[in-house]
Amino acid sequence: MANPCALIIEDEADIADLIRYHLEKAGYKALVALRGDEGLALALKEPPDVLVLDLMLPGMDGIEVCRQLRRDDRTAHIPILMVTAKGEESDVITGLELGADDYVVKPFSPKVLLARIRAVLRRKRMEAPQGTEPIKIRDLVIHPGRHEVLAGGKPLDLTFSELRILQLLASRPGWVFTRDQIVNAIHGETYPVTDRAVDVQIVGLRKKLGSRAHYIETVRGVGYRFRERG
Ligand code: CA
Repeated sequence: MANPCALIIEDEADIADLIRYHLEKAGYKALVALRGDEGLALALKEPPDVLVLDLMLPGMDGIEVCRQLRRDDRTAHIPILMVTAKGEESDVITGLELGADDYVVKPFSPKVLLARIRAVLRRKRMEAPQGTEPIKIRDLVIHPGRHEVLAGGKPLDLTFSELRILQLLASRPGWVFTRDQIVNAIHGETYPVTDRAVDVQIVGLRKKLGSRAHYIETVRGVGYRFRERG
């Protein structure tokens, strides 16, 4: 990817300028939006390769921007690096569950920011090939690229993380995936996501699968697998 384009959504102009300066120095094209709603509109109009997203924003907060981006085909797979202030841990967790890829806490060093951006871009590139082909299994059709799952022909309203977990398990029916592997598949290896968080996601996923909940089997003490039959 030559000259990847980054969109910075940050209302503190001096921080936005600092981020832009370092990104441009590192060879990125960089755009700045100072409001959440403007940033969202810009991202939908011209999807960037990577997004640097502040959480506390005028117009629309970063969590809502993240939610909207993940819902839209054009932007569902853009890597998102959240920029957060101290004390926003619960928002960070919500953001990660909505599919943001990583975060840095202010004040951060430009080196760390660039390293994180490179890491999320690298991770997304590695994921890309497997992310596009629909998976057909039992009476489910999983379209990762379209962020859509059909169960018996009817769409299920899954969150980004739920879809990724289902996609992972269904990619190798009968295989047992550990909670660690599931966490890594959603967020990458560097994440402090607990086993309990995976269990909570599975509970949500099963609820939405309804009469198909038994497709996801708990393997006690190990993790989860997709049942091929039964
Ligand atoms: Ca802010």
